[in-house]
Amino acid sequence: MNKLVIGHFYPDLLNLYGDRGNVLALYRRASLRGIDVEIRSISVGDPLGEDDIDIGFFGGGQDSEQNIMASDLIEKKGPVIKNMIESGKVFLCICGGYQMLGQYYREHDGSMLTCLGALPHYTEGKKERFINDTVYEFTLPSGEAITVAGFENHSGRTYLGEGEKPFMKVVTGHGNNGEDGGEGAVYKNTFCTYSHGSFLPKNPKIADILIEIAMKNRYGEDYVLPPLDSSVEDEARAQALDYIEHGKEQMI
Ligand code: GLN
Repeated sequence: MNKLVIGHFYPDLLNLYGDRGNVLALYRRASLRGIDVEIRSISVGDPLGEDDIDIGFFGGGQDSEQNIMASDLIEKKGPVIKNMIESGKVFLCICGGYQMLGQYYREHDGSMLTCLGALPHYTEGKKERFINDTVYEFTLPSGEAITVAGFENHSGRTYLGEGEKPFMKVVTGHGNNGEDGGEGAVYKNTFCTYSHGSFLPKNPKIADILIEIAMKNRYGEDYVLPPLDSSVEDEARAQALDYIEHGKEQMI
Protein backbone atom coordinates (compact mmCIF):
# COMPACT_ATOMS: atom_id res chain seq x y z
CA MET A 1 0.00 0.00 0.00
CA ASN A 2 1.34 3.45 -0.93
CA LYS A 3 2.09 5.74 1.99
CA LEU A 4 1.98 9.49 2.60
CA VAL A 5 3.12 11.29 5.76
CA ILE A 6 1.76 14.77 6.47
CA GLY A 7 3.73 16.79 9.01
CA HIS A 8 1.49 19.32 10.79
CA PHE A 9 3.83 21.95 12.22
CA TYR A 10 2.95 23.63 15.55
CA PRO A 11 -0.72 22.56 15.50
CA ASP A 12 -1.07 23.72 19.13
CA LEU A 13 0.02 27.27 18.22
CA LEU A 14 -0.72 27.93 14.57
CA ASN A 15 -4.35 26.88 14.49
CA LEU A 16 -6.63 29.71 13.40
CA TYR A 17 -9.92 29.56 11.50
CA GLY A 18 -10.06 25.80 11.10
CA ASP A 19 -6.73 25.60 9.27
CA ARG A 20 -6.62 21.95 10.31
CA GLY A 21 -9.34 21.47 7.68
CA ASN A 22 -6.62 21.66 5.06
CA VAL A 23 -4.81 18.72 6.65
CA LEU A 24 -8.07 16.77 6.84
CA ALA A 25 -8.75 17.43 3.14
CA LEU A 26 -5.32 16.10 2.20
CA TYR A 27 -5.85 13.09 4.48
CA ARG A 28 -9.31 12.32 3.13
CA ARG A 29 -8.57 12.78 -0.56
CA ALA A 30 -5.41 10.67 -0.33
CA SER A 31 -7.10 7.94 1.77
CA LEU A 32 -9.95 7.64 -0.73
CA ARG A 33 -7.31 6.79 -3.34
CA GLY A 34 -6.16 3.87 -1.17
CA ILE A 35 -3.10 5.70 0.16
CA ASP A 36 -2.10 4.93 3.75
CA VAL A 37 -1.90 8.44 5.25
CA GLU A 38 -0.28 9.36 8.54
CA ILE A 39 -0.61 12.80 10.15
CA ARG A 40 2.31 13.66 12.40
CA SER A 41 2.20 16.58 14.82
CA ILE A 42 5.55 18.43 14.95
CA SER A 43 5.71 21.18 17.57
CA VAL A 44 8.20 22.99 19.80
CA GLY A 45 10.94 20.57 20.91
CA ASP A 46 9.96 17.74 18.55
CA PRO A 47 12.74 16.29 16.40
CA LEU A 48 12.62 16.57 12.61
CA GLY A 49 14.51 14.61 9.95
CA GLU A 50 14.53 15.46 6.24
CA ASP A 51 12.86 12.21 5.22
CA ASP A 52 10.29 12.15 8.04
CA ILE A 53 7.42 13.68 6.03
CA ASP A 54 6.11 14.01 2.48
CA ILE A 55 4.00 17.16 2.96
CA GLY A 56 4.65 19.89 5.52
CA PHE A 57 1.76 22.04 6.70
CA PHE A 58 1.88 25.34 8.63
CA GLY A 59 -1.37 27.01 9.66
CA GLY A 60 -1.99 30.64 10.61
CA GLY A 61 -1.42 32.09 14.06
CA GLN A 62 -1.80 35.20 16.12
CA ASP A 63 1.23 37.47 16.45
CA SER A 64 1.78 36.22 20.04
CA GLU A 65 1.81 32.57 18.92
CA GLN A 66 4.17 33.35 16.06
CA ASN A 67 6.56 34.83 18.64
CA ILE A 68 6.39 31.65 20.76
CA MET A 69 7.34 29.24 17.98
CA ALA A 70 9.85 31.47 16.15
CA SER A 71 13.04 30.39 17.95
CA ASP A 72 12.23 26.66 17.67
CA LEU A 73 11.46 27.14 13.98
CA ILE A 74 14.59 29.13 13.21
CA GLU A 75 17.17 27.49 15.48
CA LYS A 76 16.01 23.88 15.75
CA LYS A 77 14.04 22.96 12.65
CA GLY A 78 15.19 25.70 10.29
CA PRO A 79 18.17 24.03 8.58
CA VAL A 80 16.18 20.82 7.93
CA ILE A 81 13.13 22.71 6.62
CA LYS A 82 15.31 24.81 4.31
CA ASN A 83 16.86 21.63 2.85
CA MET A 84 13.40 20.11 2.43
CA ILE A 85 12.14 23.17 0.56
CA GLU A 86 15.22 23.32 -1.68
CA SER A 87 14.95 19.61 -2.51
CA GLY A 88 11.32 20.04 -3.67
CA LYS A 89 9.41 18.69 -0.69
CA VAL A 90 5.75 19.81 -0.70
CA PHE A 91 4.75 22.49 1.82
CA LEU A 92 1.47 24.35 2.30
CA CYS A 93 1.73 27.41 4.54
CA ILE A 94 -1.20 29.57 5.56
CA CYS A 95 -1.15 33.19 6.70
CA GLY A 96 1.04 33.33 9.86
CA GLY A 97 2.83 30.17 8.65
CA TYR A 98 3.41 31.85 5.29
CA GLN A 99 4.82 34.92 7.02
CA MET A 100 7.10 32.77 9.22
CA LEU A 101 8.82 31.16 6.23
CA GLY A 102 9.88 34.57 4.92
CA GLN A 103 12.55 37.05 6.05
CA TYR A 104 10.74 39.03 8.73
CA TYR A 105 7.34 40.15 10.02
CA ARG A 106 7.20 43.68 11.40
CA GLU A 107 4.05 43.82 13.55
CA HIS A 108 1.74 46.82 13.26
CA ASP A 109 3.13 48.21 16.54
CA GLY A 110 6.64 48.19 15.07
CA SER A 111 7.94 45.06 16.89
CA MET A 112 10.25 43.12 14.66
CA LEU A 113 9.94 39.32 14.41
CA THR A 114 12.77 37.66 12.54
CA CYS A 115 11.42 34.73 10.53
CA LEU A 116 12.99 31.58 9.11
CA GLY A 117 14.29 33.16 5.89
CA ALA A 118 13.64 30.05 3.80
CA LEU A 119 11.85 32.22 1.23
CA PRO A 120 12.65 35.81 0.23
CA HIS A 121 9.31 37.51 1.04
CA TYR A 122 8.87 39.89 3.97
CA THR A 123 5.79 41.19 5.79
CA GLU A 124 4.85 44.61 7.16
CA GLY A 125 1.93 44.71 9.60
CA LYS A 126 -0.60 47.54 9.49
CA LYS A 127 -3.32 48.50 11.95
CA GLU A 128 -6.14 47.91 9.49
CA ARG A 129 -6.70 44.19 9.00
CA PHE A 130 -7.74 42.64 5.72
CA ILE A 131 -10.80 40.52 6.58
CA ASN A 132 -12.67 39.18 3.58
CA ASP A 133 -14.19 36.25 1.89
CA THR A 134 -11.99 36.03 -1.16
CA VAL A 135 -12.00 34.87 -4.77
CA TYR A 136 -8.84 34.06 -6.68
CA GLU A 137 -7.86 32.76 -10.07
CA PHE A 138 -5.44 29.84 -10.10
CA THR A 139 -3.78 28.43 -13.20
CA LEU A 140 -3.58 24.64 -13.22
CA PRO A 141 -0.42 22.93 -14.56
CA SER A 142 -2.47 22.23 -17.74
CA GLY A 143 -2.81 26.02 -18.30
CA GLU A 144 -6.53 26.04 -17.47
CA ALA A 145 -7.55 28.88 -15.12
CA ILE A 146 -9.92 27.94 -12.29
CA THR A 147 -11.81 30.07 -9.75
CA VAL A 148 -10.84 29.49 -6.13
CA ALA A 149 -12.83 30.48 -3.01
CA GLY A 150 -11.11 31.54 0.21
CA PHE A 151 -11.13 33.63 3.37
CA GLU A 152 -8.43 36.03 4.63
CA ASN A 153 -7.82 37.72 7.99
CA HIS A 154 -4.43 39.39 8.40
CA SER A 155 -2.76 42.63 9.33
CA GLY A 156 0.42 41.73 7.46
CA ARG A 157 1.17 42.96 3.95
CA THR A 158 3.54 40.56 2.27
CA TYR A 159 5.91 41.45 -0.57
CA LEU A 160 7.48 38.69 -2.65
CA GLY A 161 11.17 38.44 -3.47
CA GLU A 162 13.42 37.07 -6.19
CA GLY A 163 12.48 33.56 -7.33
CA GLU A 164 8.98 33.55 -5.85
CA LYS A 165 5.84 34.07 -7.85
CA PRO A 166 2.27 34.64 -6.67
CA PHE A 167 0.30 31.44 -6.05
CA MET A 168 -2.93 33.03 -7.38
CA LYS A 169 -4.39 36.26 -8.78
CA VAL A 170 -6.80 38.25 -6.60
CA VAL A 171 -10.31 38.62 -8.02
CA THR A 172 -12.04 39.69 -4.76
CA GLY A 173 -10.22 40.55 -1.53
CA HIS A 174 -6.73 41.86 -0.79
CA GLY A 175 -4.28 38.96 -1.13
CA ASN A 176 -0.64 39.61 -0.30
CA ASN A 177 -0.72 43.34 0.21
CA GLY A 178 -3.80 44.92 -1.38
CA GLU A 179 -1.59 46.57 -4.00
CA ASP A 180 -0.17 44.24 -6.61
CA GLY A 181 -3.03 41.77 -7.22
CA GLY A 182 -0.96 38.78 -6.12
CA GLU A 183 -2.12 36.17 -3.58
CA GLY A 184 0.34 33.92 -1.79
CA ALA A 185 3.65 32.64 -3.08
CA VAL A 186 5.05 29.61 -4.84
CA TYR A 187 8.67 28.54 -4.66
CA LYS A 188 9.56 25.07 -6.01
CA ASN A 189 6.91 22.86 -4.34
CA THR A 190 6.21 25.23 -1.45
CA PHE A 191 2.80 26.89 -1.69
CA CYS A 192 1.86 29.78 0.58
CA THR A 193 -1.46 31.59 0.89
CA TYR A 194 -3.38 33.98 3.13
CA SER A 195 -6.46 31.82 2.63
CA HIS A 196 -7.52 29.99 5.80
CA GLY A 197 -9.21 26.77 6.93
CA SER A 198 -11.46 25.52 4.25
CA PHE A 199 -9.09 26.44 1.42
CA LEU A 200 -8.36 22.85 0.33
CA PRO A 201 -11.79 21.42 1.27
CA LYS A 202 -13.42 23.96 -1.07
CA ASN A 203 -10.72 23.75 -3.75
CA PRO A 204 -10.01 20.04 -4.19
CA LYS A 205 -8.04 20.43 -7.41
CA ILE A 206 -5.36 22.24 -5.44
CA ALA A 207 -5.40 19.52 -2.75
CA ASP A 208 -4.87 16.93 -5.48
CA ILE A 209 -1.96 18.84 -7.01
CA LEU A 210 -0.19 18.80 -3.64
CA ILE A 211 -0.88 15.10 -3.08
CA GLU A 212 0.27 14.16 -6.59
CA ILE A 213 3.55 16.09 -6.32
CA ALA A 214 4.23 14.47 -2.93
CA MET A 215 3.49 11.00 -4.30
CA LYS A 216 5.73 11.59 -7.34
CA ASN A 217 8.51 12.69 -4.97
CA ARG A 218 8.12 9.40 -3.07
CA TYR A 219 7.29 6.90 -5.83
CA GLY A 220 8.68 8.49 -9.00
CA GLU A 221 7.46 10.71 -11.85
CA ASP A 222 5.28 7.94 -13.31
CA TYR A 223 2.91 8.05 -10.31
CA VAL A 224 -0.55 9.25 -11.37
CA LEU A 225 -3.18 10.14 -8.76
CA PRO A 226 -6.38 8.19 -9.53
CA PRO A 227 -9.44 10.37 -10.29
CA LEU A 228 -11.94 11.09 -7.51
CA ASP A 229 -15.47 12.48 -7.55
CA SER A 230 -15.47 16.05 -6.20
CA SER A 231 -19.10 17.01 -6.76
CA VAL A 232 -19.79 17.80 -3.08
CA GLU A 233 -16.66 19.96 -2.81
CA ASP A 234 -17.52 21.67 -6.10
CA GLU A 235 -21.01 22.44 -4.77
CA ALA A 236 -19.50 23.89 -1.55
CA ARG A 237 -17.23 26.13 -3.61
CA ALA A 238 -20.09 27.20 -5.89
CA GLN A 239 -22.14 28.18 -2.83
CA ALA A 240 -19.23 30.08 -1.31
CA LEU A 241 -18.68 31.98 -4.57
CA ASP A 242 -22.38 32.69 -4.84
CA TYR A 243 -22.42 34.00 -1.27
CA ILE A 244 -19.44 36.29 -1.96
CA GLU A 245 -20.92 37.58 -5.19
CA HIS A 246 -24.49 38.07 -4.02
CA GLY A 247 -24.12 38.29 -0.24
CA LYS A 248 -26.86 35.70 0.27
CA GLU A 249 -27.72 34.72 3.83
CA GLN A 250 -26.57 31.16 3.75
CA MET A 251 -24.21 29.05 5.75
CA ILE A 252 -21.36 27.42 3.92
N1 GLN B 1 -0.60 37.46 12.86
C1 GLN B 1 -0.58 37.60 11.43
C2 GLN B 1 -1.31 38.82 10.87
O1 GLN B 1 -2.21 39.33 11.51
C3 GLN B 1 -1.17 36.35 10.81
C4 GLN B 1 -2.61 36.20 11.16
C5 GLN B 1 -3.20 34.93 10.68
O2 GLN B 1 -2.54 33.90 10.55
N2 GLN B 1 -4.48 35.01 10.46
O3 GLN B 1 -0.96 39.26 9.78
